[in-house]
Amino acid sequence: MKAFEAVQHYFNSAADVLGLSDELRTLLATPEREITVQLPVEMDDGRLVSLIGYRVQHNRVRGPMKGGLRYHHEVDLDEVRSLASLMTWKTAVVNIPFGGAKGGVTVDSRAISSREKERITRKFVDEIHELIGPDKDIPAPDMGTDHEVMAWFVNQYNKYEGFNPAVVTGKPVEAYGIPGREEATGRGVGILTIKSLGRLGYKVPGATIAVQGFGNVGSHAAKFLSEAECKVVAVSDLSGGYYNPEGLDIMQVVRYSREHGNSLAGFPGAKAITNDDLLELDVVVLIPAALGGVITTENADRIRAKLIVEAANMPVRPDADDLLAARDITILPDVLANAGGVTVSYFEWAQNRQFYQWNLNRVRGELDHMLSTAFEQVWDLAVEHKVTLRTAAYMVGIQRVALAAKLAGLTS
Ligand code: GLU
Repeated sequence: MKAFEAVQHYFNSAADVLGLSDELRTLLATPEREITVQLPVEMDDGRLVSLIGYRVQHNRVRGPMKGGLRYHHEVDLDEVRSLASLMTWKTAVVNIPFGGAKGGVTVDSRAISSREKERITRKFVDEIHELIGPDKDIPAPDMGTDHEVMAWFVNQYNKYEGFNPAVVTGKPVEAYGIPGREEATGRGVGILTIKSLGRLGYKVPGATIAVQGFGNVGSHAAKFLSEAECKVVAVSDLSGGYYNPEGLDIMQVVRYSREHGNSLAGFPGAKAITNDDLLELDVVVLIPAALGGVITTENADRIRAKLIVEAANMPVRPDADDLLAARDITILPDVLANAGGVTVSYFEWAQNRQFYQWNLNRVRGELDHMLSTAFEQVWDLAVEHKVTLRTAAYMVGIQRVALAAKLAGLTS
């Protein structure tokens, strides 16, 4: 099953429970616009390469479209389309006034220099600046992009459209960004993991946790959870996994990674395992915070965690999702679990429009409030309808988008 089909599968499961008409299903499932652009870029050695960039604008009925920009060698139109539709449901689940979009460039972000990345970003803006904007479509960081890319993005956009920092979020704090945006996705994952443990009746102190991926999301989630006295027993990155049943000192892991060029290779005081082994550890919570599609029918039967918190987008394939549900493994779905990032993006956008800077305490407090509200709604709906948390989250999102479409007169 390809990525967009997978999101449609989840969408349809929720639409079935809601009794959504075929007409409305087609309206809500179809992306509003798909943009594919050629990006001829000069590399540092003088070669001219032609890259392909995408922006899929899925739905704008609840507000300007919102979603990250991914630089990864596996990016293709189907993936971007699926992630764009996921953003529509994600912004609706947490009830922020945005629709959904996503962008990407098919390039290995680790194989290019910073100057090359800058040229790719500026070229991409050259091609799409008329189609985005603070009231139309607002990009943000995703895999392979960060605050630096956002700073180039806004600088290039301003050359065409005039000064307007609200065109992207995830900017450097010194350049119209917001304190707490960088930690937001991981922090949200942490907050919601603790809430889920509570609902499932597990004690938070000492709860064992494995985190796959130690990038922005995984590292902040691990940090938050270890500060909450959970026992993070395993982490991993591209170099492999590191397991210590007694619990890892996350600050030591963070420092090691920083001092070794963002790599955990050779991390001492832990057993080296593979990324696949990490997924199968006997822990209470498994947090996939790296690539999509890591839990499949092939390994689903060997997963021993009681709770999976989807920090990455779409880490569980739909057929594996069914197998895990049959084994009573709870999955906190991506559209809720990793929504902390886009929620603080919303605060950044609001801050930019007021030309006023929020402080970290306000950001953290409001993030906690918005995620907690969404969490309670989704959990209660799942209990009421005896459906999975994923189906309940999609139901909450779809209902909001469907109502907005009705009020806008798009459907009867
Ligand atoms: N890329 C992030 C996501 O998948 C954040 C998007 C945003 O902040 O707009 O949710």
